[in-house]
Amino acid sequence: MSSPLLGCIADDFTGATDIASMLVRNGMRTVQLIGVPGHHDEVPDADAIVIALKSRTAPVGQAVSESLAALAWLTAAGCRQFFQKYCSTFDSTELGNIGPVADALVAALGCGFALACPAFPANARSVYQGYLFVGALLLNESGMENHPLTPMTDANLVRVLGRQTDGNVGLVPFATVNRGANATRDAMTGLKERGNRYAIIDAITDDHLATIGEAAASHALLTGGSGIALGLPENFRRAGLLPARTSAGALPEVSGASAVLAGSCSRATLFQIGTAREQVPTLELDALETPNSAALAKQALEWVQGRLGTTPVVIAASANPERVAALQNKIGRVQAGELVERALADIAEGLVARGVRRLVVAGGETSGAVVTRLGVQRLRIGAEIDPGVPWTYAEGSGPPMLLALKSGNFGARDFFLKAFN
Ligand code: ADP
Repeated sequence: MSSPLLGCIADDFTGATDIASMLVRNGMRTVQLIGVPGHHDEVPDADAIVIALKSRTAPVGQAVSESLAALAWLTAAGCRQFFQKYCSTFDSTELGNIGPVADALVAALGCGFALACPAFPANARSVYQGYLFVGALLLNESGMENHPLTPMTDANLVRVLGRQTDGNVGLVPFATVNRGANATRDAMTGLKERGNRYAIIDAITDDHLATIGEAAASHALLTGGSGIALGLPENFRRAGLLPARTSAGALPEVSGASAVLAGSCSRATLFQIGTAREQVPTLELDALETPNSAALAKQALEWVQGRLGTTPVVIAASANPERVAALQNKIGRVQAGELVERALADIAEGLVARGVRRLVVAGGETSGAVVTRLGVQRLRIGAEIDPGVPWTYAEGSGPPMLLALKSGNFGARDFFLKAFN
C-alpha cells in the first residue's frame, strides 16, 4: 500500500463527494472520510483522500481550526498536494469561510499563493473575466441570491474573495488560460511576485480545467470547485506516481429498500421533486405549517409504512423561496435550517431502521446532517449518476449501505428516478 497523493478538504459533504467523484472518473481510487479522523486511525488504501467537513456555514474560527486539523492529518498520511474544495457557486458569506480557510491553509503550508477557481462546465458553472455564471445567468441572478444560508449577491469573484481575506486577489483571464498551461503558469507566477495571495482563474471548458490542473502541478495548494481537479490525476501519472487504472470506482453490492430525502430548496431539486411526484410515492412536508422536527419526522415515518421497497419513496421538506423566507422570519434563519435538518436526520435514521439501504440525499447541509446522524465514517466512491453525484458505499457505526449525496443544484430533472435504475 502506497501513501495517498492528493489530500482534499471539503467544506460540505456533497462537495466532498463531488470532488471525489471527479478524481475517480479520472483514475484515482478515492475515499471520503467524514470529519477529521483520529491520529491513530488507519490511512485508507487510496490514491486520494477527501476529508468532508461541515464548515461552509460554521463560525469562521471553527471552520479554520477544523480545516487546519484536516490538513495536519492529510500531511501525516503522506499526501503531496492539497485541495481546498468549495462549491462551484462559491457559497459563502461576507465573513467567509472560503477566504479565512484559504488564508490559514496558505500560511500553514508556507506557499504564499493559491489559485481559486469554482468553474465546472459539465454543471454549467463558468468563470469569465472573474464573473461566475450559472448557465447563461450571472451567479447573483441564478437563484443563488435566494439561498437559505449563503445568499450570493455578487458574481465578481475577485471582489467576493477580496472581501473575505486581507490578501490581494488577482485575475488570470480567459485569454491567458486559452493559451495553455505555460501561459497560465507564468501568469500565476507573475501575480504571486506582484504580491497577490490569490488568483481567480477564468475557465469555460473542460480544456481550460485541464490546462489549469497542469499549470498547478507544482502548487502545494489549489482552491476551487471539483472542476479544476480534472487535470490533477494526469499530473501524478505524468510524474510516474499513479498507475493507469481501468476501474477506480467499483462498489460492493447492497440490497434493501430505496428512498430519497430532500432538504435542498435549490431550483434543480425543486424540479426533481416535481418530476418524481408524477411517478413515485412522494411526501412533501410543510415545515411552515408544522415547525417541529419531531412532528415532521413522525408524519414521514407513518407515511412510509407499507410503501418501502425497490421503488423509491421521496420525502421532501424543500419549499420555494417565499415559504423558506416565511419560516425564517417566523423562527430565524439558522433555526429554520436546523429544524428541517433535524427532521430529515430523524427520518433517515427511521428509514434505515426500516430496511432502507439505498438512499439519495439532496442538499449539502442536509447531507451533512443525515450522514452524521447515520454514523457514517467513510464513503468509497463509485460510479456517477449525474456529473458530481456518484453512488458511494458508506461504512460506519450502522449497516453498510449505498448513499448518493446530491448538491442541491446538481442532477438532471429525473435524477431521483434514474438513481435507482
Ligand atoms: P443546497 O445543497 O441546495 O444548498 P442545503 O441542504 O445545503 O441545500 O441547504 C438547504 C437549507 O435549507 C438546509 O439548511 C435546510 O434545512 C433548509 N430548508 C429546507 N427546507 C426548508 C424549508 N421548507 N424552510 C426553511 N428552510 C428549509
